[in-house]
Amino acid sequence: MLTTRPRGTNDILPGEVEKWQYIEEIARQVSGQFGYHEIRTPLFEHTELFLRGVGETTDIVEKEMYSFEDRGKRNITLRPEGTASTVRAFLENKLYANPQPTKLFYIGPMFRYDRPQAGRYRQFHQFGIEVFGSHHPSVDAEVIGLACEYLERLGLNQLKVHINTVGCPKCRPQYREALIKYFQDKKDILCKTCLGRLEKNPLRILDCKNTQCQELSLNAPTIQNSTCSECQIHFQQVQNYLDSVGIEYIVNPKLVRGLDYYTHTAFEILVQGIGAQSAICGGGRYNGLIEQCGGKPTPGIGFAMGMERLLLTLELQGISLIANYNNPEIYIATVGEETEQLAFRLAMQLRKKGISVEKDYLDKSLKAQMKTADRLNVKYTLIIGEEEFEKNQVTIRNMATSQQNKIPISDIISYIERSLRGK
Ligand code: AMP
Repeated sequence: MLTTRPRGTNDILPGEVEKWQYIEEIARQVSGQFGYHEIRTPLFEHTELFLRGVGETTDIVEKEMYSFEDRGKRNITLRPEGTASTVRAFLENKLYANPQPTKLFYIGPMFRYDRPQAGRYRQFHQFGIEVFGSHHPSVDAEVIGLACEYLERLGLNQLKVHINTVGCPKCRPQYREALIKYFQDKKDILCKTCLGRLEKNPLRILDCKNTQCQELSLNAPTIQNSTCSECQIHFQQVQNYLDSVGIEYIVNPKLVRGLDYYTHTAFEILVQGIGAQSAICGGGRYNGLIEQCGGKPTPGIGFAMGMERLLLTLELQGISLIANYNNPEIYIATVGEETEQLAFRLAMQLRKKGISVEKDYLDKSLKAQMKTADRLNVKYTLIIGEEEFEKNQVTIRNMATSQQNKIPISDIISYIERSLRGK
C-alpha cells in the first residue's frame, strides 16, 4: 500500500509533465485571446453545492462523488466538475456586479469514483470555460469555437462537433411526456436504471450505454418536434454563427442533458482514436443553473475538456508535443573538493543570470561527470580540474563541436552569456 498509488490516480512524471505544461499553456493562450480570465476555486466544496449544481439524479451525484464528513462534521465533497464551483464563486464574490458577461476558465484536477480504464480515472484534469450573463447565440458559437480552436492549435484533427438543442423549461415538459409515452409500453426491455429514469428523468434514457436501451432510443421522438419557436430560433442562430466561421458540426438529436437547468445548446466534441471514450469535450447552456444555486436568474454556458483524454488522443494521432524537457544549458564538471566549491559558486552566479546549470553532487569521477553532461544534452561543459584551478582558469567545451578553450575564471560568466545569448 505504501508504495502504491490509489486506484484511478496517476503520477505525472518528469518527461510527461512538460507535455502537460504545454497543453495548459496553449489553453491559457487561447482563452486569453478569446477574453477569458482564469479562476481557481477550492478542490473541495460543501456537498450541498454539487447536489444542487450537478443534480441529484445524475451519475456523478448518485454514485461517483468522493464525499466525507470533516472533523467539524461538515459534509464535504472533492469537486467532481468545475461548473458548480465556478457558479458558487461568481455568486459569493459578486462577480455579477462587474460589467457582464463574466468569462472565466479553469484548469485543474477533478475527482470521480468512476471505474478506471484507459481515459477514465478517479482523479483527472479538466480545462473548462464558463460564460455568465449573456444568452446571445454568438456566445454559444464562441464557446464551441474556442474549444475547436484549442484542439486545432494542438494539431488534432478528425474532430467531430455534435450539437443539439435541449429546449427550455417552457417546451421540455412536452418532450418529457412524449418520451414517457414512447417508452411506457417498452418497460420490459429497458434496463433497471432506465426503468427508474422513466419517471424521474426520461431524457436520460437517451444516453444510456446499455445496447437494448440504445436500440429503443433510435426510434424515440426527438426534441426537435417539441421545441418552442424561441428555442428553434436560438438554435438556428447558433448554427448560422458556426457556419459563418466555417466550423463544421453534426446536429445530433440524441445529444441530451436531462436536468431542468440545461437549456438550448448542448454540444460534444468527439475524436477518432480512443474508442468508447471518444468524447473529449462536453458542454452546453445552463440558463437555469445560477438560479438553482441561489442567484438571480442569469444565463450561463460552458464546456469541460478532459486533459488526459486529450493527451491520449494526441499520442494516438501521432502528434508529438514539443517535449521541452528542461535540459540544463551548462554542466560544470569538477575534480576535488575545492573545485566543487568553485563550481557551486559559479552555478549560483550563472543561474542568477537566467542560465540553467547542473553540476555533480555525488563526487563522481570526471569521466562519469562528462557522461552525465552528454546525457543531459547540455550546450557547454565547464571543466575545472586541478590545473585549471591553480591557473584560475576554466576549460569550456562546446558539446556540439567538441572544441575546447581555456578562459580565465573572471571572464567565464560574460563569455557564457555571450555564447548562449549573444550578449
Ligand atoms: P463531463 O464533465 O462529464 O461532461 O466531462 C467532460 C470531459 O471530461 C469528458 O469529455 C472527458 O474528456 C473528461 N472526463 C470526464 N470524466 C472523466 C474521467 N473519469 N477520467 C478522465 N476524463 C474524464
